[in-house]
This record gives sequence, structure tokens and C-alpha cells, in this order.
Amino acid sequence: MNNDEFIRRDLAVLWHPCTQMKDHEQLPLIPIRRGDGVWLEDFNGQRYLDAISSWWVNLFGHANPRISMPIKEQLDRLEHVLLAGFSHEPVVQLSERLVALTPAALTRCFYADNGSSAVEVALKMSFHYWQNQGANHKTKFVNLSNSYHGETLGALSVGDVELYKKTYQPLLLEPITVASPDCYYRQDGQSTEEYSKQQFAQMEQVLAQRHQEICAVIVEPLVQCAGYMRMYDPVYLALLRDACDRYGVHMIADEIAVGFGRTGTLFACEQAGVAPDFMCLSKGLTGGYLPLSVVLTSEPVYQAFYDDYQKLTAFLHSHSYTGNPLGCTAALATLDIFEQDKVIEANKILSEAMYREVQELQDHPHVAEVRQCGMILAIEMAADKVAKTPYPWQERRGLAVYRHGLEEGVLLRPLGNVVYFMPPYVITQEQIRHMTKVAIEGIHLATK
Ligand SMILES: *Cc1c(COP(=O)(O)O)cnc(C)c1O
Repeated sequence: MNNDEFIRRDLAVLWHPCTQMKDHEQLPLIPIRRGDGVWLEDFNGQRYLDAISSWWVNLFGHANPRISMPIKEQLDRLEHVLLAGFSHEPVVQLSERLVALTPAALTRCFYADNGSSAVEVALKMSFHYWQNQGANHKTKFVNLSNSYHGETLGALSVGDVELYKKTYQPLLLEPITVASPDCYYRQDGQSTEEYSKQQFAQMEQVLAQRHQEICAVIVEPLVQCAGYMRMYDPVYLALLRDACDRYGVHMIADEIAVGFGRTGTLFACEQAGVAPDFMCLSKGLTGGYLPLSVVLTSEPVYQAFYDDYQKLTAFLHSHSYTGNPLGCTAALATLDIFEQDKVIEANKILSEAMYREVQELQDHPHVAEVRQCGMILAIEMAADKVAKTPYPWQERRGLAVYRHGLEEGVLLRPLGNVVYFMPPYVITQEQIRHMTKVAIEGIHLATK
């Protein structure tokens, strides 16, 4: 079967995620028949370098035997069992290792099966904690402008990307939104640290005035990924931790996208030396193999739910596939690779290579910023470089880069006017050169 035949079958029965399906009258759907390392291969045999890790999930390449073999073995032992009243080896091992790897205050793992669900768990747990403490007036959440935490109604409520949220506004919780510490609009010559510190003033004010009604502040540490890969300084997280402690408010770190080495450390919170009260993980958790998510929390939170059944303080939340053994096995194999290959150190060389290869864009008349945080590098195209005036979204400049990438065998999927790389860690320096070269050509074409 070739691409065309397959696409006809697909478009007859599927409704694809995050897609205006009418686009596919013009824009070809890409059917993938196999993956191998950084490569995806379509039904015509054309290959694409997966520069965005298949929506930020893949860490060590497609069809990596170091992950797929343990999954195959686990499949013959136990595919799934409910996690209420029952347990299994992979989930206990994984929990032990996550507790050891994350900041010391995080001692308990609660599982779900996708990122949005993990965010729902963290929001409900925080609210319920305060209920169990008799703090019934705490019903609000604080979020940052331009943040993203998923698509289910609770998670969507605490996000702030208008494109995904606006339509559903009447259905949503109303968070208190504070200006993001995102450093894109800092003054010329101002350091990211200064700017992020300055932006914290608004957070401090909101917490000072309204802490009695606030359950938690939710943030994406260091990089607002779906929010156009905007980045900020770790100092903001340190200030936030301190303020949350002073005002009796939880801190939720949504590390669903930035966890597992993307920002240059295993977890982004490490760069600020802070432990959140809740840490949400998914995406890279299983190396990109299977849907799984986890919320880590602290002993005081756990203890606030621990009581006689009749007190009705338990957290009665579950998902059918909570803690699935195959997903946990994939996660264990992923952690093994981090350990065995000293991945965090090795990635430094790759992130330096990405940085070097895009330097010519610094002088490009329509590139307003080239920014990087570890293994994430983003290039912001703008109509006016100095004033940072964006191109109108209707022009879909990013889409032109996407099309060029596909023609040249690189899967880039710009977010609006922002072209970015978030490749699997098995990418070579030569592949980085290819990926960046194609992106730079695409940016030239799209900004002509
Ligand atoms: C992707 C993402 C989510 C949602 O995860 P899903 O598995 O897609 O539901 C939540 N938060 C952040 C920061 C994300 O990037």
C-alpha cells in the first residue's frame, strides 16, 4: 500500500487531534509505517527526521530495542491489573526510583494515564488537602499567562493559550492569572534573571492579597512549551517556592513536557533547587512508548488524607489504566538508559551543537529571538525584528516551514511563528546539522 491509498482509508474514518480536517484537502497527511531511531518512514519509503520527538514524548528514538524488549517480556508476564487493592512489580520499582530521583520532599507517587489527567489529579488533590484541613475557603488556583496544562476541562481552565481555550470559556473554572516571567519582551540589556524577578512582583501581590482563597499556584518550570517555547529564569521558581511557603499555598510543577532532561537537568525544578508540593510527569516518562503519568507529592499531603474510612478523607480518584505495568516497564527501561549512558552529560554536547548551528540566524532580519534551554531550542520569527511585532497568525508562516521540512525529510512542527527543535537524545551531530540546515532554509523561505 502506498501513501495515497492509505490516506484515503484514513480520511474516511478518522478525526485527527488538534487539526482543522479541511486542511487535509491541501496538506498531505503523512502515514508512517515504521520508525527507527530519529527517523520516521512513510508508506512511500520517504524518511523524516523527528525533530520534535513526536510531540515531545520520544527520548531515545523510535523502536529502540532497549525499551521494546523489556515491554515484550512484561507483556508475557502481566499486561495489566487494577491498582486499587492490588499491586505489581513494575509500579513499585518505578515509584522507588522516581522518589529517589526527584527532589527529596516528594515521597509519594499517584498514577494516571496521560498528562491532562495528572494535572487534574494535582488540582483535585491540592483542593482536597485544604478541605481535609478545614480550609474550606481555599477554592482558587493561580496560573501564569501563556501557560498550557492540557485539554480536559480542569487542565484547560488553568492554561492560558487562547487558541485552545477561548471557545470553552463558559465551561471552565476561573483561575487568577498572573503575568508570565517569560523573558521574550525584556528590555535590551536586561538579564533574564532581572526580568523574571521583576515579573514576580505581581505574583507576590496576588498571594499577599488572596492567599486565603488560593489552593495552589501551577507553573511549567522554565519553559512554557505549548506557549510558543517561551523561557524564563530559574530565579522565578525559587521566589515562588519561598512565597508559597510564606502564604500557605501549594506549588504545582507541571514537568510533563520539561521533565526527563529537556531543560538540561533531569527535572527543571533542580535548576532552582526547589521541591514543589506536586510534580506532574508524563510524555518522556515512558520514553514515548506508552501513555502513563504520575503525580509525586509530599508526606504531609499524603498524611492529610490518611485516616479511618468513616472520616471520608480519602482521595477517591482513579483511571482504569492507572499505573499500567507495560507503561511502568517502559519507564523503568527509560530510566536505565539515563543511568547507563550518562545522558544528561552527553546531552550537553548535543545542545551546544544545536546552538552553534543556528547562530547565523541571530542577524536574520525576521528572527526576533533565538533562545535555548538545554535540549529545547526555539527561533521566533517576527514581522519586525526590533519591535518584535508578530506576523499576523492568518499568514501561517510556520506552516510554510513545516511544508519545507517535510519536502526535505525533517519533521518540524512550528508553534505559530516559532520554529523549534526538541529532538530525541539519540540524535547525532551530523543529524543536528541536517535538521538545523533545513529549518534555516525554511525560515528564509517563510519570511521572504
Ligand atoms: C502536553 C502537556 C500536558 C498534557 O498532556 P497530555 O498527555 O497531552 O494530556 C500538560 N502539561 C504540559 C506542560 C504539556 O506540555
